[in-house]
Amino acid sequence: MENNTTKYIFITGGVTSSLGKGIIAASLGKLLKERGFSVTIQKLDPYINIDPGTMNPYEHGECYVTEDGAETDLDLGHYERFLNNTTSQANNVTTGRIYQTVINKERNGDYLGKTIQIIPHITDEIKRRIKILGETQEYDFVITEIGGTVGDIESLPYIEAVRQLNWELESDALCIHLTLIPFLAAAGELKTKPTQHSVKTLLESGIQPDILVCRTEHNLSNEIRNKIALFCNVGFNSVIESKDADTIYDVPLLMQKEGLDKVVLRKLNIQSNKEASMKDWKLFLEKLKDPKETIEIGLIGKYIELKDSYKSISESLLHSGTMNECKVNINWIHAEEINIKNVRKKLGKLNGVIVAPGFGDRGIEGKINAIRFIRENKIPFFGICLGMQTAVIEFGRNVLKLQDINSTEMKKDCENPAIDLMESQKNIKNKGGTMRLGSYKCTLSKNSKAFESYQKENINERHRHRFEFNNKYLERYESAGMIATGINIDNNLVEIIEIPSHPWYVGVQFHPEYKSTVAKPHPLFNQFILASISNKKEK
Ligand code: GLN
Repeated sequence: MENNTTKYIFITGGVTSSLGKGIIAASLGKLLKERGFSVTIQKLDPYINIDPGTMNPYEHGECYVTEDGAETDLDLGHYERFLNNTTSQANNVTTGRIYQTVINKERNGDYLGKTIQIIPHITDEIKRRIKILGETQEYDFVITEIGGTVGDIESLPYIEAVRQLNWELESDALCIHLTLIPFLAAAGELKTKPTQHSVKTLLESGIQPDILVCRTEHNLSNEIRNKIALFCNVGFNSVIESKDADTIYDVPLLMQKEGLDKVVLRKLNIQSNKEASMKDWKLFLEKLKDPKETIEIGLIGKYIELKDSYKSISESLLHSGTMNECKVNINWIHAEEINIKNVRKKLGKLNGVIVAPGFGDRGIEGKINAIRFIRENKIPFFGICLGMQTAVIEFGRNVLKLQDINSTEMKKDCENPAIDLMESQKNIKNKGGTMRLGSYKCTLSKNSKAFESYQKENINERHRHRFEFNNKYLERYESAGMIATGINIDNNLVEIIEIPSHPWYVGVQFHPEYKSTVAKPHPLFNQFILASISNKKEK
């Protein structure tokens, strides 16, 4: 960029939560990237957990894992899927982490006897974490999404840090505020008052938003836009409509139509004559909206009441389905509800089944029943992390006929622990951040479904688990027809298992779903979809 300084864009939210700040951030990031700028997106979360790794998915949806092994907010998944850029530990910061750093420094004596306070010590640490991405990695744009809603007590230090940075950085920063324009059915009108109040709340904290992105169910008339502009003190063109869309993948194009990227560039005094082309994105959307066929995929998990628990998996299915011009109908199946009697009814019509990752023994028996049915009835199977481990248990029980085979996660003192803790995990007591996390190497056997998918021998995939295949059993498994086709050579760990006599039966110890993006759907998901399409044709 011509003047070489990083520009900082802050995105705050008002009126209600769940307006989709993450999607707006990712959409703006995508438009700027397509114009040729380098962009990264960061999320600040105002809760006290150090990271979401220790949270139940019901609390917070999926925990997304980065290459460098950070357990992060699921919005980082959107950033990676939209931008096709990797993120890192620095892209997700929580209040817990901020306080931990400040308190550790205090214990270390780094503050030289000062009284430690929210302002300046906590706000300085927030500011340091925001600027670090621009300073160390030289991005043209750092987009920072502030979690929560303005007016929340817990967001205040972040809002104050944004106020200070806006003041320090002058023309190198701007603030976008995302709000809601509700439609009152009884009055037949869109209402601007909640937005006016939300902007007043921001103003009380010393921040005048530069741009308002307004979520709405109906188009905003010029009259409404004028009213919002006048009462919220922003330009007419800085009132951006964000109408409800069919899919999140429409949003970048809607934002382009509304000129969000143009207003941002103008406000930051950046010349950019090249419009974002979005050619490939449009092609993707065309395919997404005009599928040639539909397949039925089962997703078996234990947190299915909250679909966000499996966000990256459902998005990966969508990416790979779209690439193959195929609509993937996800059948959400609760693991606890599957038993021997109903398994055929629940799974018999499906073209492919994913058994999801997870922790603890709830639903395990249901998953085992499901996997037996899928294995015996030759339905394409994709087991991810706990899904792979459960496949190993099922095969041990029903094919190898090993008594009391289990994972030591489910039964500590089982006779045949085919899935067990790694030695290095055995003495770990702390729960947070202590799993095998982030990217690890894996070497594929040439003659395998995995190799067919990736078309290369050496791959890297992201991990998040404590338990592993127990190599003591490998020979017995392989001679009975379940083969290890991916190995981490450094630690001699089984990463992928397959049953070659089955049309498509692949279990992976890692999480491929974290690496699927719109630009690059994941090879294993692609092949799984192809196998499921074949299953449909044969049925
Ligand atoms: N609970 C299993 C383990 O810790 C699997 C984890 C997962 O599915 N991510 O190894």
